[in-house]
Amino acid sequence: MTHSQHHEIVVIGAGICGATIANELLERGKAVCIIDAASSPATACSSHAYAIAHPHIGKGSPRLLRLTRIAFLLAEARWGSVWQAHGIFQPTKKDKEFVLEELEDYLNTLELDNTMAVPLNARDAKKVCGISQSGVWLPRGASLNLLETTQHLLQEHSRLTCLWNTRVVRLENRDEKWFLFNEADQPILSADKLVIAAAMESKALANSVGVRLPLKPVRGQLSIFSVAPNDPWAAKLPSVGISGDGYCLPAEHLEDGSYRWIVGSSFDEGEDNLSPRDSSDEFNRAQAKGLVRYFEGDPDGLKKLGEFVGIRCVAGDRLPMIGVLAQRPGIFLATALGSRGILWSALAAKLIATQVLNEDLALLARFGLAADLVAALAPARFFAGALAAPPALGALASNSKPVFPSGPKTR
Ligand SMILES: Cc1cc2nc3c(=O)[nH]c(=O)nc-3n(C[C@H](O)[C@H](O)[C@H](O)COP(=O)(O)OP(=O)(O)OC[C@H]3O[C@@H](n4cnc5c(N)ncnc54)[C@H](O)[C@@H]3O)c2cc1C
Repeated sequence: MTHSQHHEIVVIGAGICGATIANELLERGKAVCIIDAASSPATACSSHAYAIAHPHIGKGSPRLLRLTRIAFLLAEARWGSVWQAHGIFQPTKKDKEFVLEELEDYLNTLELDNTMAVPLNARDAKKVCGISQSGVWLPRGASLNLLETTQHLLQEHSRLTCLWNTRVVRLENRDEKWFLFNEADQPILSADKLVIAAAMESKALANSVGVRLPLKPVRGQLSIFSVAPNDPWAAKLPSVGISGDGYCLPAEHLEDGSYRWIVGSSFDEGEDNLSPRDSSDEFNRAQAKGLVRYFEGDPDGLKKLGEFVGIRCVAGDRLPMIGVLAQRPGIFLATALGSRGILWSALAAKLIATQVLNEDLALLARFGLAADLVAALAPARFFAGALAAPPALGALASNSKPVFPSGPKTR
């Protein structure tokens, strides 16, 4: 390995998360090297072309609700000019009664004004969104093509080095630098600061420095359906996105008169098999009926055109893991984005850049990111005694056992 293979900042993982962080650092004048096992950006979960983004307004911890609002605003500021802002409707849950004043008060407590969230009774929802059911209209909700976005973030830049086809299998600290090793156990390069944004594989990389991360895979399949112009489903298809039990995009009217409709997603905990499954399409057909309340609809009217299968990486408490790995100074983690890759990538870029550049975390307060929220995202939340002083650089202290904080699932 030559001296030129030393970099100040290296990011492992060129999905939406690593790419957004790298881009933020470039914008702040830093040089960045990004490494990926694949031959191009966004080949894994971020090859998803139909992701949606909106602030979370349902059940969840107060911190999750605050974080998704902040992250949504950051994502909108970053990608608002390229995303498809068709609006998203969130129907009232079956077991919930729609009480307009109560909902208005609730949305106020979440600091969501009526540019962001508007409660609608069934009649108004029909007028605004074409759906006869009560719920909350999120006019700024949008969808984003993660593949194109990631590619765009990593376009040529004088201070950006991209290393493709390079799988990192272990890390080692020597002389206050982090060395990255390949499958042949040869050093690839070294870095002063290392950002691990390798989704599920962050677990193996952290493990190589003696830190056990509580991450697990959740397989998901999204279905692309075709609806014939004369099929009864055609009259039921939405013109806005819907997010409830599952989600869908607005149906697209094609030149031949048929419709293309994206509906997702299955949720297979602990699974990481990428092969498409008929059973997942069946699941999505059932979700489709619920989303547009067309329970009598014939599932055969939704003809399969294609699918997207991806493996989400989730942490024990369903919040992302973003921040310094306190036990191993110089390593930063950005993983466990779950089903909110857009929101958490935008947030990770601000938080990780601030930490990598050693800036005052108080600067994040301008985005509403208060200290308690930074702590809620920190990998340290999983480690007993993690708030104690970190060990000296290079000293691989014995790893504390991960602790799963109790918390509701986000979806
Ligand atoms: C069905 C489904 C629906 C979803 N819907 C939405 C949605 O509507 N809205 C939303 O915001 N999000 C959604 N998501 C989630 C979103 O797709 C992910 O959160 C996001 O893509 C994760 O990005 P990432 O960069 O963390 O991981 P990835 O995209 O998986 O990137 C990780 C990268 O690391 C590389 N890598 C891994 N290990 C190594 C290694 N050892 N060495 C070098 N490189 C390595 C990989 O090659 C890969 O490129 C959905 C996910 C699924 C599966």
